[in-house]
Amino acid sequence: MSNSPAEQWMQVRPEGLYCAPADIYIDPIEPVTRAIITHGHADHARSGHGEVFATPETIDIMRTRYYLGDETRENGLKYGQRFDLGNGVTLWFASAGHILGSAQAVIEFEGTRVVAAGDYKRHPDPTCAPFEVIPCDVFITEATFALPVFQHPPLETEVEKLLRSLRTLPNRTHIVGVYALGKCQRVMKTLRLAGYEAPFYIHGALKRLTELYESYGQDFGAWELVSDIPRADKHLFQGKIVLCPPAQINDRWSRRFADPLPTVASGWMQIRARARQKRAEMALVVSDHADWGDLIRTCEETKAGDIWITHGRVEALEYALKQRGMQAKALNLIGRDESVE
Ligand SMILES: [Zn+2]
Repeated sequence: MSNSPAEQWMQVRPEGLYCAPADIYIDPIEPVTRAIITHGHADHARSGHGEVFATPETIDIMRTRYYLGDETRENGLKYGQRFDLGNGVTLWFASAGHILGSAQAVIEFEGTRVVAAGDYKRHPDPTCAPFEVIPCDVFITEATFALPVFQHPPLETEVEKLLRSLRTLPNRTHIVGVYALGKCQRVMKTLRLAGYEAPFYIHGALKRLTELYESYGQDFGAWELVSDIPRADKHLFQGKIVLCPPAQINDRWSRRFADPLPTVASGWMQIRARARQKRAEMALVVSDHADWGDLIRTCEETKAGDIWITHGRVEALEYALKQRGMQAKALNLIGRDESVE
């Protein structure tokens, strides 16, 4: 068993993954003095830290979601920009392909390079920079969709399902449940690239993050807030796409639409029971995470001597990597919510 020297200085603590010589945590679940934040999703970016290192986009997202108070000192680092954390530890970020601003944290100390990938995906996404393979000694990977059943289809085919339904059922209001950060914008952009031209009608909870993406040059075409349309105009939405958080596709909010067709866009939609649980009539498989094949391929491509696995289907991935001759172990980190994509 070869153990990397990083075992000595990268530790698992109750607050999260800890780099001892720099006294800094990666995506800690409790407020800490110094934190590296890989991306803006709620289970990775928490409030109350003394000092935060993240990409400028992630800092903006954290500010938009009120995760940054007066107590927090912000350090925005662009992809590839190196920062001396002290005691001989260097930090830089590489793109993770997960959402806008998402990053892998690259940490170098005494000639050893550790890459903590955070959440990542390899499928193309027109709303963020693509994943970059960084050769390293230790690669720390997620395992959210680490079962062979998970093979995410190209988003274009899922979007085509939605467009076909709009043509076949022009009287139905297609209400698509999407997470506000990342998924919403990726689905809108992919629909535009597929030729959908009508305005999007969106729930208020999706507004600020969509505007933030636009401030980074993303163009989603015309969109309007549902709340700005008079209630009497409910037929306006027929044959159109309405976007809202997943919880709203079937609640009181959705009753304002004529003949609604509830749809969920999520990586979990490959599991039929989950789609039924959400009472969705249509399910689109849309994931911001690497699927089974891409998790294994990525671990191989980093050429890392050690793979550490943080959250998700940890045992399945550990077993598969070992079978392929890789050195792998589970880190038993707590506090990651697998259903928050
Ligand atoms: Zn995430």
